Amino acid sequence: HVFILSLVTFSKNLNMIEIRHHTFGQPIIILEFDDSQEVIIYNDKLDSIFNHPEIQDRKVVILSLIGAFRGGKSFFLDYCLRFLYAHFPSINNPNKVTSFIFKKDDTWMGEPDEPLTGFSWRSGTKRDTTGIIMWNDVFLHTLDRTGEKIAIFVMDTQGLFDNESTPADNSRIFALGNLISSIQLLNLMNRAQEDHFQYLQFATEFAKFAGSSMIEKPFQNLTFLIRDWNNDDEYSYGTAGGNKYIKEVLSPNNCNNQELQSVRETIFECFNKIECCLLPYPGKIVASRKNYDGRWSEMNEEFRSELKTFIEFLLMPDNLIIKQINSIDVNVKDMSQYLKNFFTIFQS
Ligand code: GDP
Ligand code: MG
Repeated sequence: HVFILSLVTFSKNLNMIEIRHHTFGQPIIILEFDDSQEVIIYNDKLDSIFNHPEIQDRKVVILSLIGAFRGGKSFFLDYCLRFLYAHFPSINNPNKVTSFIFKKDDTWMGEPDEPLTGFSWRSGTKRDTTGIIMWNDVFLHTLDRTGEKIAIFVMDTQGLFDNESTPADNSRIFALGNLISSIQLLNLMNRAQEDHFQYLQFATEFAKFAGSSMIEKPFQNLTFLIRDWNNDDEYSYGTAGGNKYIKEVLSPNNCNNQELQSVRETIFECFNKIECCLLPYPGKIVASRKNYDGRWSEMNEEFRSELKTFIEFLLMPDNLIIKQINSIDVNVKDMSQYLKNFFTIFQS
């Protein structure tokens, strides 16, 4: 009995080590706005993430999340990191996972009372650094469907896309996020509004400017991630209700204003695929307790379960999207050069 018990504790501990990701990486600022809104680019930091010799020929997958301050973005990405560390090897953790075996149970979410670490989050009501932040560890996988080797990067944004920034700033940031990422999430509170759609339209102008071909759709996938959804009678939580919802709000038939109609048409022309996920309110502790540390035992069960389902859907290998530019798959070596070019254009 004692033997079995100690084996159970041992494997539990192993599991914990596997998902305690703060030891394997840290968030690094690669693009920053200073106090006078000048753009500072840290190419050396970018190189430190992209220049590992063993990943140069891998195809790139970049997950990015953009949206207003204090929308639970970093919180969401930290749970994505837990999923990634539990299922994929990474540069700093090469031996922990040998091949992808989906953990259907809750184990990838960590221990119920494990404080959340990763991208800095819940840093108060004042925004700190403004910029684009990357996780400096890279996840490695070989796709079953094609045998292609991929490298998965995770990107957070901070202090951008806020009330304090102008619509023009927001559009540029949104466009940049789309140019950089292959899986772009747009984090919104409560619902999708008209001004959000207009960002999307402006963004296409920036993409033209950045030299991306307009023959093909310039952007890949866009997923609206709507938090604190409170209309689940009409549209259920998750992607089923979400996709139905976004299809309806984006339908050009749903508005009689000419301008709004053209905004909607542009959106469909620019993105390969548009999806949406509706997440429930996480509960009072998550939403407002000051010293809440991110543990999942204090989430509303409905929220925890939807969060889990959506992250599993998003990051399942079959759903990982390789970054393409002008319809061509991009590898790590070329991506770091593209990033520098996009940033330089952004800076000017
Ligand atoms: P960010 O500024 O968008 O990166 O937001 P953070 O991830 O730092 O989270 C800000 C606050 O929102 C934290 O106190 C979180 O506990 C809380 N939070 C996380 N997810 C949600 C959610 O889905 N709804 C609400 N209302 N709050 C959330
Ligand atoms: Mg944040």
